[in-house]
Amino acid sequence: MKIRINEHFGEIKESYLFSDIAKRVKAYSAAHPEQKIIRLGIGDVTLPLTDSVIEAMHRAVDEMAESKTFRGYAPEYGYDFLRGAIADYYARMGVALDAEEIFVSDGANSDIGNMVDILGDNDILIPDPVYPVYVDSNLMSGRKATLLEANAENGFLPMPNGIEEKPWLIYLCSPNNPTGAVYNREQLTEWVDFANRTGSLILFDSAYESYIKGDYPHSVYEIEGARSCVIEICSLSKTAGFTGTRCGWTVLPTDLEANGVKLSKLWARRQATKFNGVPYVVQRAAEAAVSEKGHAEAMECVGYYMENARILSEFLKEKGIWFTGGENSPYLWLRCPNGMGSWEFFDYLLENAQIVGTPGEGFGKCGEGYFRLTSFGTRESTIEAVERLRSLL
Ligand code: PLP
Repeated sequence: MKIRINEHFGEIKESYLFSDIAKRVKAYSAAHPEQKIIRLGIGDVTLPLTDSVIEAMHRAVDEMAESKTFRGYAPEYGYDFLRGAIADYYARMGVALDAEEIFVSDGANSDIGNMVDILGDNDILIPDPVYPVYVDSNLMSGRKATLLEANAENGFLPMPNGIEEKPWLIYLCSPNNPTGAVYNREQLTEWVDFANRTGSLILFDSAYESYIKGDYPHSVYEIEGARSCVIEICSLSKTAGFTGTRCGWTVLPTDLEANGVKLSKLWARRQATKFNGVPYVVQRAAEAAVSEKGHAEAMECVGYYMENARILSEFLKEKGIWFTGGENSPYLWLRCPNGMGSWEFFDYLLENAQIVGTPGEGFGKCGEGYFRLTSFGTRESTIEAVERLRSLL
């Protein structure tokens, strides 16, 4: 063919981090079929959906079987019942949002990736290391970001001090994937003040908010001034086990305006053209997940994962291995022992303990020498992993 392809794809890594990991694990399994591999790498959940969610889905499926209650295309921005239920969820956190400021989607990933559609050429700040989709989705559309160094000195929480005072598009993720670090109120206030002062926009990814145990903001809108400078993106993937069910949302407060244009209007227009909504059955499931009862059930699953995190944390402390995370986040971010590189440590663990983690380097240059473990495994596999690690490290 002679058509021109998007040449910016040449600027991103040929394969996604987790495909590289899967390839190495597959090759190892093929060579050692007798070995039992424990996966503490990819951030997928293992517990099933909770009772309230399953009951809501069953009811919705039955409705789809009757002509009187059957539903066709869903509204592009989400059914009112779900937008209202999400607004109630925020209200219980002390955050007042209008249901119309909430745009339902099939997950945070799509919204993060698609947000580039409504934004022009901006100077972009992205922490390093971080969830790779922020950098990759910008590169795919020909935009390059300035990386904000996150390291042990700043607690993996870069701050705006020292950054040029001009309008930026700033990506923040708290609790952070992969480091598990979480911004406190004072730190988020500094970011919000910086953004309002410089005319910047913050894209705030709160996908792991329900893992926060301490006194940290769950939503950036708990911070004064955030409504005029932040888009918040959230998801039920990790909160309620929706990684395969697919539902999330983006909040675009009506106060968000750039050069006299409301960002919520642009996003509504974008979604109306390119997105045909989330399935009815899934939206009913999501409504149940954010209800008081459903959320309480989901928090039992979060508690289960956080007990795994505690088990992993205790082990790292016992061995004197430096780490962050695991307290307000399902991720533990550790310094590779004996000065090993992160892919070197990955291979070492796979070959000697048959444990799969995620090399820090896959999340950015500053991740080199670090390694991410997740607490999303089963209790049994987490305990077995710790036993194997104890005899190895
Ligand atoms: N944001 C972060 C920080 C994540 O770690 C993930 C998934 O791992 C997502 C967003 C994607 O969430 P979803 O499953 O809703 O697309």
